[in-house]
Amino acid sequence: MATINIDILEQIQIIEHYKQTLAILSWDAKTKGPKNARSQNAKIQGTLTKELYSKQTDKKFARNIERSLEKDLSELERKQLEFHLKEYKRLSIIPVEDVHQFSVIKAAAHGNWSEAKKQNNFKLVENDLQILIDTKKRFASLSNRNLSEYDQLLDEYEPGVLTGTLDNMFDQVKQAIFPLLNSIRNASIQPDSSFLSAPFLIDNQIKLGKKLLNSIGYQFESGEVSETMHPFSTGIHTHDARLAVRFEENNIKLSSLMFLHEGGHSLYNQQISKRLDTTGLGVYTSMGLHESQSIFWEKVIGKHEGFWKNHFHLLREFGPSIYKDISFDQFYFALNEVKPSFIRYESDDVTYPLHIIIRYELEKELFSGNLKVTDLPDAWNEKYDNYLGIRPRTDSEGVLQDGHWYGGAFGYFPSYLIGFIYAAQIRQVLMREFRNFDDLINDGKLSIFLEWQKEHIHRFGKLKTSKEILGDLAIEKINEEPLIQYLTEKYKKLYKL
Ligand code: ZN
Repeated sequence: MATINIDILEQIQIIEHYKQTLAILSWDAKTKGPKNARSQNAKIQGTLTKELYSKQTDKKFARNIERSLEKDLSELERKQLEFHLKEYKRLSIIPVEDVHQFSVIKAAAHGNWSEAKKQNNFKLVENDLQILIDTKKRFASLSNRNLSEYDQLLDEYEPGVLTGTLDNMFDQVKQAIFPLLNSIRNASIQPDSSFLSAPFLIDNQIKLGKKLLNSIGYQFESGEVSETMHPFSTGIHTHDARLAVRFEENNIKLSSLMFLHEGGHSLYNQQISKRLDTTGLGVYTSMGLHESQSIFWEKVIGKHEGFWKNHFHLLREFGPSIYKDISFDQFYFALNEVKPSFIRYESDDVTYPLHIIIRYELEKELFSGNLKVTDLPDAWNEKYDNYLGIRPRTDSEGVLQDGHWYGGAFGYFPSYLIGFIYAAQIRQVLMREFRNFDDLINDGKLSIFLEWQKEHIHRFGKLKTSKEILGDLAIEKINEEPLIQYLTEKYKKLYKL
């Protein structure tokens, strides 16, 4: 069997090291990097990004890869070469000046968005948003793929799951959630969740969160935990999977669930096979599948009765004055309370899909030209009113709440719901495989699930597509039914409907 020419391997290694360095710099900038270092940090990132781009789009490199692909290669060799050739083709469509200019526009727009959100003034970012949409459309038109501009964007996050699938699937989810939400609203029992917003020392929130991370199997020696405004996780390589959480003194639920969510992403990052580290394949395979793993740990496990039976004592330990008079049942009901609210990442599991569907419907309209950027705030508020029965009082709690669009990330939001749908499908597979699924959670035997995920999902990185991974689990295609069933059963029982 032939092996790959050493020049190609060296170039791949350089490319991967650039990416890893950029990930560390980006982590630093978003977490504890000094405020006064920001502009120099941005310049360093700019230079490295340009260098990376020139390596990835080097014609000689691409030609060498093509030549090597004619040889008889191992699966790993072939797949890594195919990956880098695909990247070459994807990136070299766009002229280098445009790439650079777009990164400048994105950075400025993101900065303006922060200010607009603070000042509650959509007008400050309206023009930027229009430019970002136009640029994304122009970039999409440069590729000669037979897909609409918006479908091309969706394809970057969850390959193959496009409007043709999402329209009907999201519609089914809506049709199931509306009546469920209505009966919950009219249920005779409602939780008292006021204690969840009692002041809880941030230091203690951190201690509690770290205990939760420990319970789900996060390896602290192969990662780092930090604080940030907008929570995220980043997988630099297998032995460096970091996560950052946001804290609010009066919201213990927010930080606990975020620890589990970002922890879920990090477990995926930590369990990718070490041999993929500098191949380009040592990352999650798709955004939808990545999100399914975080949602599994946050929602399926992290909002499970058995999980909290084993962890409720931590609330009494770290928040004794609040929790000494609260019973477990009170806590569990409050944790799972369903109540329409404005902010996506604080929403409950029943309304969460609606937050995503609203964003999906709006960005689709923005890209088809049916919705003008100037009309976006009203359209946003209208949908919240129609779907959730609440109307945002300000743009900061409406259209300005998330940074995705203002950083040029269109087509990203659907992967959150795709992830929830996958998580429910994967839960079904696990329930077939482990007949005592709930008992395992009740008994705290969570490492069984983590091992299973490693074996069937995580270790492959990008060696397999999400379609292949799911196919091997006998999940033929994405299907909303298990999610609808999960939500309906869980919340009917909880609200005694
Ligand atoms: Zn996530």
